[in-house]
Amino acid sequence: MRKFCALCGKITEKLLNNLCGECFSKEKEIFKISDINIKICKDCGKIFRRGKWIFYDFDFESAINAALHEELSDKIKFIEPIDTYTFSYTFDSNFIKLILKVYINDIELRYEKDLNLKINITYCPDCIKKRGKYYEAILQIRGAFDRNIVKFIEEKLNEMRIYDGKAFISQIKELKEGIDLYIGSRNAGRKIARMLKKMGAKISESKKLYGRRDGKEIYRYTICIRFVER
Ligand SMILES: [Zn+2]
Ligand SMILES: [Zn+2]
Repeated sequence: MRKFCALCGKITEKLLNNLCGECFSKEKEIFKISDINIKICKDCGKIFRRGKWIFYDFDFESAINAALHEELSDKIKFIEPIDTYTFSYTFDSNFIKLILKVYINDIELRYEKDLNLKINITYCPDCIKKRGKYYEAILQIRGAFDRNIVKFIEEKLNEMRIYDGKAFISQIKELKEGIDLYIGSRNAGRKIARMLKKMGAKISESKKLYGRRDGKEIYRYTICIRFVER
């Protein structure tokens, strides 16, 4: 049956409260959303969401984009029953333009909304440790090594940082006998040692009691990685 929109007079088969989809969306906003705050770590690019620091992407803009998508999904709340909805958005450093399409009884409602975006650039707890020169293991690179090995180790640690936040080098010490790398995570340090062993290096590990925390003994590990002349 043909019907008329009570506001614009458009002829349509589908009305919502006597209004066409377009007029209804202008008359009534059926959702709520607050401004968006994002906390991102300047150093590793992890983003704080739902109480956790999460890795999304090595590229900061892609990381913010991915986090925004989740944040918007969480925050769009409907105050009327709806069938389904989709959304898209664009953003710059201060604003988000949200385009929301809502479907009720096969009628499409389209909303555009500008939201304030606040991006807080800070350091995550792991990167604060890194800046505080925290370490659990020292990798002693010795013998006939190629200096590119440091770059190789840095790259491998960066990959591990996705799941091990302390997989970083907090200090590099150049010594006449070789290079000492201070590694935030003992596990990451050991993984690196295993990789270098496969490349022909000889590995030895020792530990030293460093202190006690919550009744547990804390050790610091020294892993000597010696490259022999071939
Ligand atoms: Zn209308
Ligand atoms: Zn970080």
